[in-house]
Amino acid sequence: LWITLEGGDGAGKTTQAGLLESWLRERGREVVRTREPGGTEVGTLIRDIVLHHRGDVAPRAEALLYAADRAHHVATLVRPALARGQVVVQDRYLDSSVAYQGAGRVLDAAEVRELSLWATEGALPDLTVLLDLDPAAARARLDAADKPFDRLEAEREEFHVRVREAFRALADAEPQRFLVLDASRPAADLAAAVRERVTALL
Ligand code: C5P
Ligand code: MG
Repeated sequence: LWITLEGGDGAGKTTQAGLLESWLRERGREVVRTREPGGTEVGTLIRDIVLHHRGDVAPRAEALLYAADRAHHVATLVRPALARGQVVVQDRYLDSSVAYQGAGRVLDAAEVRELSLWATEGALPDLTVLLDLDPAAARARLDAADKPFDRLEAEREEFHVRVREAFRALADAEPQRFLVLDASRPAADLAAAVRERVTALL
């Protein structure tokens, strides 16, 4: 079983991934918790480039770097874990690329998706949880938590609005894969909603 969490910065993906992982482990499941970019050793090198050279990497090069990270991640970590029967709980996947490298950076969304599907030989998760949150609320939340967060600051507000709209459009296009949750709700409520859907898949 392969579950990905998607949504903008500050939506609470990492929190929900942690809660889901603990719950699955309590139920005796073997869980592989991972993320993109940077889920593998090679991936951490790519993550360094895309995050620390943000803005100076040409948009198509950036899209290819994310795709390269994803190709390696799926081939060496995700597929082997799934083959062993483990549950993979993953922070971000190809929907992030469509939203950020596509809508955010104004590359063609369909091309970005095709690139990812080529990179991963068409691998798609069983469930994608979209934590949907207004970017202004996300920013306020991170400020309140006093998180050392410069990522939202690095991009203009419109960028994050486009990213959010892109995520929602992706969920509308594949309602069977997506569970869309209002991420302004309390974390415990969101976790319960995720558990309910995952229970149906286990
Ligand atoms: O989710 P995480 O905090 O690890 O994401 C790191 C940064 O990379 C975020 O600021 C996110 O906006 C960005 N990102 C991106 N394109 C992706 C995945 C993440 O621009 N495909
Ligand atoms: Mg996070």
